[in-house]
Amino acid sequence: MNETKNKLASYICALRPIIYINHFDFSAVDALIQEVVKILPATPEIYEYNDAFGSVDFEWKNRQDYNETKDLPSFLSNFYEIEEESFLVLKDIHFYLENPKIIALLKAIALKTLNTKQEDFNTIIFIVASKLVIPTELEKLITVFDFPLLQQAQIAEIIEKFAQELEFVIETDLVEELALSCKGLSEFEIKQILCLAYEDGGYIDINDKKLIIQEKEQIIKKTGSLEIVDFKETIDAIGGLNNLKSWLKKKAKVFKQLDKAREYGVDIPKGIMLVGMPGCGKSLVAKATSRLFEVPLLRLDIGKLLGKYVGESEANFRQAIKIAEAVSPCILYIDEIEKAFAGVGETDGDGGVTKRLFGSFLTWLQEKENTVFVVATANDISKFPPEFLRKGRFDELFSVDFPNEEERKKIFEIHLQKRGKLPQDIDLNRLAKQTNKFSGADIEAVVKETIETAFIDNKDKINTQDLITVINVTQPLSKSLADKINKIKEILEKMKFKSAS
Ligand code: ATP
Repeated sequence: MNETKNKLASYICALRPIIYINHFDFSAVDALIQEVVKILPATPEIYEYNDAFGSVDFEWKNRQDYNETKDLPSFLSNFYEIEEESFLVLKDIHFYLENPKIIALLKAIALKTLNTKQEDFNTIIFIVASKLVIPTELEKLITVFDFPLLQQAQIAEIIEKFAQELEFVIETDLVEELALSCKGLSEFEIKQILCLAYEDGGYIDINDKKLIIQEKEQIIKKTGSLEIVDFKETIDAIGGLNNLKSWLKKKAKVFKQLDKAREYGVDIPKGIMLVGMPGCGKSLVAKATSRLFEVPLLRLDIGKLLGKYVGESEANFRQAIKIAEAVSPCILYIDEIEKAFAGVGETDGDGGVTKRLFGSFLTWLQEKENTVFVVATANDISKFPPEFLRKGRFDELFSVDFPNEEERKKIFEIHLQKRGKLPQDIDLNRLAKQTNKFSGADIEAVVKETIETAFIDNKDKINTQDLITVINVTQPLSKSLADKINKIKEILEKMKFKSAS
């Protein structure tokens, strides 16, 4: 809290005229403002406007029914003339930030603050809203204040207070464990979850951890761009890619004992980028890494980060990263990253949004010292900005090619076994020989189809010939996507990444 308070205080003292707090938990923001006021050299008068009631008393939230302040334009015009140190706290007004009159009024007040001398009376505007909307005209006057997520100790305090208020006993160990599960959530969300858990029995015990995790998954999903992925795959479900697998096993050793590793002087693993052929197990690797490292897998959908307002995409990105960091240690899985960032250097068709987002992502990757391990995958990186692939961003870049004969044999075995078929009844060598340039996904499709056909034909079991029959009529991805595949091949040859196999 102290760090947050000091940061906000420093913005106020530096006369940042409009401070945008992108948060939906208004009571938490009110509490922060009240705390900050206590450490400022001069005590400001605080005036609040919210979209529901108009002007309200900041402390008690009673409606201030003065005619002249019923709507936002009149509320703001009043403050242009005001001669006292003041804060205007404007809540949920993001819908008005496309209105020229409102923009002009905010600008006028902000410029007045900027043009006055430090010792004069200043008005600082706080916009508090769950959505970030920055009109271009105000871009230079607005400072976005990131409301930090709660630390584990703060969450533990909330849980203990909740138990005290409802007069039930909760063991310290349980508090610690629940607090860990609640990382990444706001106070409001934590309280909601605790109420839900409490209502279901009149106490909270370790069984409620599951409920907390489910609720948390829901909340994370609502961010729109992040999702917790549930899956069963382990590293043994991957046929081949032995280089990559043994590299990951080594990093897992570091990741599973981070404190010891850090103490020893080992760098925290940052992440990997997997580039290559479609359907060859890149996503599978992301999932298996999560099992191997024994941490949750969060999937980031960069496409969903993109917003229409200035700064909105970066704000969404910061929010997603903040959650990932709070949930950490975790794997942040970014699938088909080229779709979001390819061609960044070319045109500015979207007003530079992608470029800025790319910049934020690069900086975060380069500087990150947290325990979010990134697994990014891509097929075609021909339009990819070269700075992305430079050393230092990722620990390693791996190329993933079509499986070789030995690997195909293993992939057949995995998928037959997965469906309860005994590989010893099948000539795996023959299958592997007949499936040159088949991807793992193609092989899986062959196995699936063979088994389904045998079932429909009332066969007791499948044999090698059944599989060969399906192989002969299968059009592998390498043929159906020949152009795309050739292009990827060319790039991989040129880039000389470490081979995953
Ligand atoms: P894309 O680039 O098209 O997203 P990808 O490389 O991420 O493809 P996956 O989604 O991992 O490919 O593979 C699709 C499916 O094919 C997997 O769920 C898995 O069942 C099977 N598969 C692919 N490669 C392998 C492999 N090496 N071992 C076992 N199964 C595999």
